[in-house]
Amino acid sequence: MKRIARALLLLLAALLLLPSCKNAKKRTATLFCMDTVMDLTIYGSADALAEAEETLRATEKALSVTDAASEISALNQNGGGEVSPAVAALLSEVLSLCGRTGGALDPTVYPIVRAWGFTTGEHRVPAEEELAALLPSVGYAGVTVDGTRVTLLAGAQIDLGSVGKGYAADVLTAQLRAAGVTRALLNLGGNVQAIGTRPDGNPWRVAIKDPNGDGYAATVAVTDRAVVTSGGYERCFERDGIVYHHIIDPATGKPAQTGIASVTVIAKSGLLADALSTALFVMGLDRATAHWRSERDFEAIIILQNGELYLTEGLEPILTVDPAYAGKATVIRA
Ligand code: AMP
Ligand code: MG
Repeated sequence: MKRIARALLLLLAALLLLPSCKNAKKRTATLFCMDTVMDLTIYGSADALAEAEETLRATEKALSVTDAASEISALNQNGGGEVSPAVAALLSEVLSLCGRTGGALDPTVYPIVRAWGFTTGEHRVPAEEELAALLPSVGYAGVTVDGTRVTLLAGAQIDLGSVGKGYAADVLTAQLRAAGVTRALLNLGGNVQAIGTRPDGNPWRVAIKDPNGDGYAATVAVTDRAVVTSGGYERCFERDGIVYHHIIDPATGKPAQTGIASVTVIAKSGLLADALSTALFVMGLDRATAHWRSERDFEAIIILQNGELYLTEGLEPILTVDPAYAGKATVIRA
């Protein structure tokens, strides 16, 4: 009798749990969007996953510089104009991040990125005179946002490639949470956003690529964090034995040469992490360290071309360094 009662109780519990289990089913999607392969893993409804994909497509449509019909392309073609409230808010936030990073982040480097062929893949080394002619139009201070009206300096053009995926991850996170999703891992082409924990309650583990070799340099255990890497290896080309990569120092118009091979930033906000991964790369180790000491709203892993690895102290308990980097890791302390 007791056994039957227990079986009935178990059945009842299973029936009660059924709707929520069904809703929190693991679902995955892979798509090519924003010029990269994206892998989405969510524990939630099929609708939530479909909406996430739609949001990514819509974000690409609004921001892409290679789509002549995007809001950003319209600004670039017309020297400014009206944008949607969401793009206006994003631009305002990005401009304040440009200021915060002392101009290391600057979306107005776009004409220079284009001159190097990074937008089309038709790579070339621009002549000094060509860069000198383009540099005067570079400067985020020449962009103004007034409500939904944006104005660019004459000749200026912007590209949100340095922050777009981080921004998209923030939008997705808010949207998924509103749809009741409490666990997800969004990998937007190396921009990872971890929502909640894994189903077993443990943090998500995100591997950080070794920029100096194959494989991984470290793994980090995170819950509700963005993990974003900028690496010189991601888009680069070689001419006459010199490697040129896609992260441009807005002060020189040339690929930033600071000895950094990759920067990974871990923060609550995807936009902040994405903006800073690019900016710290441009700043170099010393300025990046000073920036962390003054702001303290993110953690970072900086890997140099010489094989040294630097991590900010908040990562000590959650970062596992690969044996290849074990003797070369230094903790940056406050
Ligand atoms: P990320 O991969 O997030 O570091 O972004 C790099 C992309 O942003 C490049 O491919 C360029 O399109 C653009 N970019 C390059 N240098 C900068 C910079 N200093 N500030 C803002 N955007 C940049
Ligand atoms: Mg970035």
